[in-house]
Amino acid sequence: MLDLSTVRPASAAAFERAKAVIPGGVNSPARAFGGVGGSPLFISRADGPFLYDLDGNRYLDFIGSWGPMILGHCHPKVVDATIAALKNGSSYGAPCELETQLAELVIEAIPSVEMVRFVSSGTEATMSAIRLARGFTGRDRIVKFAGCYHGHVDSLLVSAGSSALTLGVPNSPGVPAGCTQDTSVLRYNDVAALAELFAAQGDRIAGVILEPVVGNMGLVPPTAEFRAELRRLTRQHGALLIYDEVMTGFRLGYGGAQALLGDAPDLTCFGKIIGGGYPVGAYGGRADVMRKVMPAGPVFQAGTLSGNPVAMAAGIATLTELKTNPPYARLEAQSARIGVGLLEAAKHARVPVQFNRVGSMWTLFFTDTPVTDLDTAKTSDVKRFGRFFWEMMDRGVYLPCSQFEAAFTCGAMTDEHIEQTIAAAGESLKALK
Ligand SMILES: *Cc1c(COP(=O)(O)O)cnc(C)c1O
Repeated sequence: MLDLSTVRPASAAAFERAKAVIPGGVNSPARAFGGVGGSPLFISRADGPFLYDLDGNRYLDFIGSWGPMILGHCHPKVVDATIAALKNGSSYGAPCELETQLAELVIEAIPSVEMVRFVSSGTEATMSAIRLARGFTGRDRIVKFAGCYHGHVDSLLVSAGSSALTLGVPNSPGVPAGCTQDTSVLRYNDVAALAELFAAQGDRIAGVILEPVVGNMGLVPPTAEFRAELRRLTRQHGALLIYDEVMTGFRLGYGGAQALLGDAPDLTCFGKIIGGGYPVGAYGGRADVMRKVMPAGPVFQAGTLSGNPVAMAAGIATLTELKTNPPYARLEAQSARIGVGLLEAAKHARVPVQFNRVGSMWTLFFTDTPVTDLDTAKTSDVKRFGRFFWEMMDRGVYLPCSQFEAAFTCGAMTDEHIEQTIAAAGESLKALK
């Protein structure tokens, strides 16, 4: 690893200044580069597929703000729509038609969603969805899967993925035991354990929440049998099936993971892309369940800035662009090409890896064990990943700063950018020797 203070002095100075006033110098731990050793780059601006740091370096951005920027940064249609909305006032605390428009777009895109409520983050969406599942069923127990991340909700912060995993705090201090006593954690893709739990306590389970394709332990796809059993068992026992599509929604196709897989959950959580780069989350699903949300029903949930007009305008512009000029076929082809290229490069360099991918989400795991759940993800050599990360950074490619995160290809990348990335990976993998 290079010494940031000599190589990127402006970022190093900005980080020192931030650390004095913001815990760890960052407002979300995934940004702190704790998983790769070193300190974060401070970004001065972004454009198309590129990020620019304070020292004037340019990087091909495979994070895209951790998912939202599927069209690339500063897409002209999103910028124009946002500025137009801003000139009409930035918040009303009263309903406006932009909220209905975005709701109609979401419902049209996702057949299992009949009604939708907007909130301001993915965390709020999952928190509200499990409250609704409990309120609707009159039951307390929630089932989640090790390595899935559903935001920093108290009751879901057990065996969580993303930075909770990278930074080694699966159970955070400050989460009382009482908050997680009604949460069961199972292994992802483990059909037998799921069947066993439902046989023992099926009548106490309010809902099962999962990432239908996991991004937060690195990319891990579900098996067909796992998905089929989830749907069958939840239906049989009257529990709600909740797909957390905060990352996969409008990413794995316009209809998200559920359209790609052909699934119909009872509730779905959204975030990231749905706000076009602004703080928006949403939860939606069956109308009979959603009508329990206040003021239509008794389950309380509220938000001063929920349905914010500027954020709604950015979301509408993003979804409209994704619908009218779908980038998905090109993202699929480019991401598949990355897979072929990286596997070839790793073979040349004699570095054992696994490449997991669904659509434009992918992870290169530094292990010779196929990765299907958290335990197998953890067989990865994270030190080697950290060295690879910095080698790529020095070649102008900005990857997620943890082995346990998915990278995202974005619509602003050209085939030339993809080839540059593969060439950089070839050199970087060789440099690991
Ligand atoms: C990012 C993410 C969240 C949390 O969303 P925030 O907007 O960060 O609160 C929840 N679930 C999944 C699957 C995510 O990827």
